[in-house]
Amino acid sequence: MAVDSSLAEMHWKHDLLGSIEVGIVVLDKNYNVQVWNQFMENHSSIVPGMIQDKNIFEYFPEIDEKWFCRKAEPAFTLKSPVFIIWEQRPYLFRFDCNRPITAQSESMFQNITIFPLASLTGQVEQICLVIYDVTDEALGRLRIESLNKQLERMSRLDGLTELYNRQYWGEQLALEYKRDKRTDVASALIMMDIDYFKKINDTYGHLAGDSVIKSFANVIRKATRETDLACRYGGEEFAIILPDTPIENVEFVAERIRRFAEKKFVIHDGIEVSYTVSIGVAGFKSSYKSHTQWLDAADKALYKAKESGRNKVVLAD
Ligand code: GH3
Ligand code: MG
Ligand code: MG
Repeated sequence: MAVDSSLAEMHWKHDLLGSIEVGIVVLDKNYNVQVWNQFMENHSSIVPGMIQDKNIFEYFPEIDEKWFCRKAEPAFTLKSPVFIIWEQRPYLFRFDCNRPITAQSESMFQNITIFPLASLTGQVEQICLVIYDVTDEALGRLRIESLNKQLERMSRLDGLTELYNRQYWGEQLALEYKRDKRTDVASALIMMDIDYFKKINDTYGHLAGDSVIKSFANVIRKATRETDLACRYGGEEFAIILPDTPIENVEFVAERIRRFAEKKFVIHDGIEVSYTVSIGVAGFKSSYKSHTQWLDAADKALYKAKESGRNKVVLAD
């Protein structure tokens, strides 16, 4: 009778451990495996007979032993459960994720709960690890995060040129102004406007005009460094912040942009459409009362470049 009931209990336990969709691992105080369920066998290809009484760290070198022991200790000493979530560590056991979309991750994401298992005397001699496969949830979340990042990036950019837009650039200019006030570094602004752009639109059409705008954005990209912040300020107006750049170098960059643009052309309906730009340059001065005054100085220099014949670089007073 006693044998029968214990056999029945074994069957019951076996069925339960085998059919549930979570991993169950019981470890003793030396981290030797006592229970290894079907889920663990399916994902690791290690059968219970193989790993029974073996040290878990020998079979799974990917588990950082020191970290895990420190993590599991409260289950033994305080008899309290411990939780490890995938945001902390994507997984404890490196299992294949068996999902059609494997681009983002090849491994199963796991949440782990560690329960203390008290003996009749109340001592915790064993702990039970429950391993939840949270790959779907994690991939969903990661996809949303990456979409949000993409949206954030897009909200800073101008759609036609993929340079920064005026809004974002203006915020950066205000920050740069404050930084320059504090630290006395030499930063500068460049303002640019395509010459006789109305004529380009009128002669070749709006689409040709758009191509010229895109072409000039590429000129700017080519002539600047990664730390420079270039934006499309308006229709065919552009601006650049050049942090920590001596004015001679800024003039050199501006002149290079002017020359690149002069040589560049776009092909529209088989016709070469060339263009030139006028450029105003203003180095930071501590006498500026605000970033708009700085911008104004660059704008005035640009106006002078226009007035004095266009296709020119003019330095602010
Ligand atoms: P200037 O040499 O004095 O700068 O002469 P301009 O003809 O370039 O004069 P202005 O700056 O006033 O003209 C800008 C024109 O750019 C007016 C507007 O129709 C056109 N424009 C503004 N945004 C766009 C755009 O996104 N695409 C195209 N194709 N044209 C645009
Ligand atoms: Mg203009
Ligand atoms: Mg213009």
